[in-house]
Amino acid sequence: MKRLLISAAVALTATTAFAEYPEKPVTIVVPFAAGGPTDKVARDLAEALRKPLGGTIIIENVGGAGGTLGATKVAKAAPDGYTVLLAHIGISTAPALYRNLQYKALEDFEYLGMINEVPMTLIGKSTLPANNYAELVKWLEANRGKVNLANAGLGSASHLCGLMFQSATKIEMQTVPYKGTGPAMTDLIGGQVDLMCDQTTNTTSQIEAGKVKAYAVTSKQRLTTPALAKLPTLEEAGLKGFNVTIWHAMYAPKGTPKAVVDKLNSALKVALKDADFIKREEALGAVIVTDGRLSPAEHKKFVASEIDKWAPVIKAAGQYAD
Ligand code: ASP
Repeated sequence: MKRLLISAAVALTATTAFAEYPEKPVTIVVPFAAGGPTDKVARDLAEALRKPLGGTIIIENVGGAGGTLGATKVAKAAPDGYTVLLAHIGISTAPALYRNLQYKALEDFEYLGMINEVPMTLIGKSTLPANNYAELVKWLEANRGKVNLANAGLGSASHLCGLMFQSATKIEMQTVPYKGTGPAMTDLIGGQVDLMCDQTTNTTSQIEAGKVKAYAVTSKQRLTTPALAKLPTLEEAGLKGFNVTIWHAMYAPKGTPKAVVDKLNSALKVALKDADFIKREEALGAVIVTDGRLSPAEHKKFVASEIDKWAPVIKAAGQYAD
């Protein structure tokens, strides 16, 4: 009887301890450098989340190792709702790529729900002589072994897209990893690297400003964003079945109390309906998720299917990191 009373008291304390959540700033860890596509969605979402969550939100960029350093930090953080992760497709590619991954994607997080899906663009430095996709392929063939392809590290979206592009065209390139495509874009604009495949949320304004050249989109259909509408899909350009879409989602450390997970999930759902957030995302070619994957359980099932989808692609490409 006494023990029962004690456990009831402990349960009550745990519930009331989180009833007022959040009582201090919530840190969203972005596992890539500032200025890139994941950072952008995090900062825009933070604006929209502030009201429904009812507190201050801090963005912390922990870039490196294709997003796995930031994900590890959150997997090992205190499960109190004050450190959460805003990650992307890399959550599902890292298990096949990193032999010493310090977390288990399906076991070490409470899933909070999905945010958006974003197509990618194949872009090049503005001084490249090629002005369209056909000219790009000719130039790549003439420069085999000399072309640099920037990415945000193993398992990043830009890495995956670059990998698929090299294997579809059978043209190998030297890859240059960065802590995110924010800094990679700076180098592409500066002409230090030649090519990059990156999300439209990071490339649209640079394409519009003529700072980079755009050759194709990775989506199944052409995009409607004015600056990108002229670009062919890679499938149309001859790469059969080429279709890469990147998604973002949020996670908390395993063991975060259910009341906190529920609060974060409902705040996320409200934020995704914020008119300003939707406008900013759509203007850059992103699509806000509105289906069942907004629920933690459905998103987790989706990640499991993504892990199964990418593992053979990565294995066939012989990619891994120790
Ligand atoms: N998400 C990465 C970033 O924000 C880019 C990538 O995955 O390619 O820099």
